[in-house]
Amino acid sequence: MRRKLVVGNWKLNGSLAANAALLDSLLREQGSWTCDAAVCAPYPYLAQLNERLIGSTLNWGAQDCSAHESGAYTGEVSAAMVAEFGCRYVIVGHSERRAMHGESDQIVADKAKRALAHGLTPIVCVGETLAEREAGVTDEIVKRQISAVIHTLAHCISQIVVAYEPVWAIGTGRTASPDEAQAVHHVLRAKLHAATERADAMQILYGGSVKADNAATLFAQADIDGGLIGGAALKAADFVAICRAAG
Ligand code: PEP
Repeated sequence: MRRKLVVGNWKLNGSLAANAALLDSLLREQGSWTCDAAVCAPYPYLAQLNERLIGSTLNWGAQDCSAHESGAYTGEVSAAMVAEFGCRYVIVGHSERRAMHGESDQIVADKAKRALAHGLTPIVCVGETLAEREAGVTDEIVKRQISAVIHTLAHCISQIVVAYEPVWAIGTGRTASPDEAQAVHHVLRAKLHAATERADAMQILYGGSVKADNAATLFAQADIDGGLIGGAALKAADFVAICRAAG
């Protein structure tokens, strides 16, 4: 039986004061859900998360890490640095980074490898654009994206979390139907099965306009093990409701 996991991706949002208020609300409510939950904040706030969430049931993480270990890479933040702030997770390959920062499948796979090397669990995002869905190549796209990670991580592949995030559903208010999402999750799990005998234990999250009112039906699908939540993770009441929907 896989545990459900709900992860908030705060993106480029927050301030010390706003984070403190949000975290205090989440901490007050943490006893009202049983799933695993985490929040992923911008780098400067990782110290704040480390300080406030230590000893709680909430985990925390970063939204990216460098594919490099160290060196002349101005502006980059390494997995080792992220790990120093108590992070359990790091998101890699979010579609916003793939699209706006030119991250290839191989760069995403290299980031996942760095994360694992420093004891972090990479949450590897995959997903098709609207044009790709309309062209009928969704399965091909997500298989290509996950294959690069499988190839690079080899026997360590079972240590990652996968997030299926159709690009057309992110921040748009348009959600994949539970059936549409389940179909892609099934394809991803089959691909993982071919790579590891532990595929049944791996968590595959759905992300893309998950809200309090659609979370329960999405999470009820056989291969959907929780969610990666953007906009709705910024309001405590919404995030709490989604965590409760996960169990
Ligand atoms: C995301 O950015 O990972 C995401 C799923 O965003 P939203 O929930 O706002 O669609």
